[in-house]
Amino acid sequence: MLTFSNKTDHVTKTLELTLEGAIDDDMALPALDLTGIAHFTIDFDLVAAINSMGVKKWMLFLNSSNLDKVHVIFKNCHPAIIEQINLSKSFLPNHGKVESFYADYICESCDHDQEVHFRSVSFDTDNIPDHPCPKCQANMEFDGDEDYYFMFLEFAQ
Ligand SMILES: [Zn+2]
Repeated sequence: MLTFSNKTDHVTKTLELTLEGAIDDDMALPALDLTGIAHFTIDFDLVAAINSMGVKKWMLFLNSSNLDKVHVIFKNCHPAIIEQINLSKSFLPNHGKVESFYADYICESCDHDQEVHFRSVSFDTDNIPDHPCPKCQANMEFDGDEDYYFMFLEFAQ
């Protein structure tokens, strides 16, 4: 079940869509009125899961929205969303940007794992940062295939 809220700011010409739940077979989003909107921001922070039917429905939702003159900005993308962006460029429409995202990190000392949040603009794939482990203070490291996971930054940063 996916719920959403959206708010429009006519001064900044921004429409922000906040999603919560799962992007799956039951997903139903209305086509949004993007008249006069320059920036369409989608916040994925509370999206817990996505499956293949959800991806198809997501594409239908985007196709039903008139995005020709709109900058699409994805925020707070968890790894499941980043995987979809890496798999299919049409998951993030033309000229879309990922403003911020999460990456899986693991502590080699105590095995604690968690997602760490980053802003794309300040992220350097040549120098992937460590993160202090909240449990034992050792360094946590990115847990995954760097070349694959951060691919989206090449076209969506
Ligand atoms: Zn630790």
